[in-house]
Amino acid sequence: TSLFGGIPTAPPDSILGLTEAFQADKNPDKMNLSVGVYKDASGQTPILDCVKAAEQRLVDTEATKGYLPIDGGPDYRGHVRKLVFAETIAAERVTVVQTPGGTGALRESAAFIADQLSGRRVWVPSPTWANHNSVFASERLLVENYRYLGSDKKSFDIDGMLDDLSSKTNVGDAVLLHACCHNPTGVDPTPSQWAQIADVVAERGLLPLIDFAYQGFGHGLDEDAESIRAISAKCDELMVCSSFSKNFGLYSERVGALCVVSSDSATASAIQSQIKKLVRTNYSNPPRHGAAVVATILDDEKLTAQWHDELAMMRNRIKTLREQFVETMKTTGAGHDFSFLLDQNGMFSFSGLNPMQVDELLHKHSIYIVGSGRINVAGMSESRMGHLCEAIAKVVE
Ligand code: PMP
Repeated sequence: TSLFGGIPTAPPDSILGLTEAFQADKNPDKMNLSVGVYKDASGQTPILDCVKAAEQRLVDTEATKGYLPIDGGPDYRGHVRKLVFAETIAAERVTVVQTPGGTGALRESAAFIADQLSGRRVWVPSPTWANHNSVFASERLLVENYRYLGSDKKSFDIDGMLDDLSSKTNVGDAVLLHACCHNPTGVDPTPSQWAQIADVVAERGLLPLIDFAYQGFGHGLDEDAESIRAISAKCDELMVCSSFSKNFGLYSERVGALCVVSSDSATASAIQSQIKKLVRTNYSNPPRHGAAVVATILDDEKLTAQWHDELAMMRNRIKTLREQFVETMKTTGAGHDFSFLLDQNGMFSFSGLNPMQVDELLHKHSIYIVGSGRINVAGMSESRMGHLCEAIAKVVE
């Protein structure tokens, strides 16, 4: 008898599975607007110049590939704290642990909640990044949804969100918030709505668990952290999961961090020790290279300025693509107004296309979009906008 013979095939990841199908597609006009990766005008996911420069410096100077500390490089951790919190929170109150990407940070946050806290529930917005559900479920946390996107699929249902958080939650439940550039909708709260959210989270005694995967893709590095300022103004205890996959273009290097804010330094140290214990049994210690690249850039004024420019370039180009898409859709005569996309932030937009239309785009036009209708705007290109919009006009007619 075979030990392995009866193992069934797991379903492919819904988004990464689409990319596999895309790669196998022979249509020369194919377009992948599914996976959340920035692409330049030539369709490449480029390596930023500041990253290349930092890598060159590392090649020239790096003296060891020995293990990093369990919680990561001290320089890197200091820089992450400043990027996320600036000087708004005393350093001694912040625990920072380097993690393999934002997913690693989310996974460690879930492990920490399961291991150390009595609340076993996490509230996530409906909809949210599909992996949130799986990551939290992997740590045996109960995942519940709060209302987020309005029934028109365009607007933010602030009343529904506040109502769910204030009437359905228990003290100690965690609430997952997207700091900016909500995935998959691109719909973010305004500053005054963030203040309202912070009030409810604080009043109910919830633990804010903030996913910060797109810092700098919304309005700017500091602007995008305003949501975190709003929460930390009302809550002494919170967690932030950062990813540097998108804003440094370091996707495959797996660079991220889990920050935990506590009310005093003794608690912060205890938490640091507990998370190190979890990391030790999970992946032992984090990968060196990507975090060393980030630290090298942030240690150097010129490279930092270059990074700010390159990040602004990506952010502005996505905005321009959004505008171009909305304008080009108007010229197709499909009579379907997409101007609501202009208020959305970051890489993604909820297009309002239904699963049948998404299916038709795939099978008739080799245009790959996630079933929910989420479009990766950063995957569009100036030169092929006409082709894309004509195909969409055909399926919405
Ligand atoms: N959170 C959200 C909302 C994301 O969109 C992503 C990336 N798609 C992540 C976390 C994970 O990022 P990473 O690739 O750094 O693990």
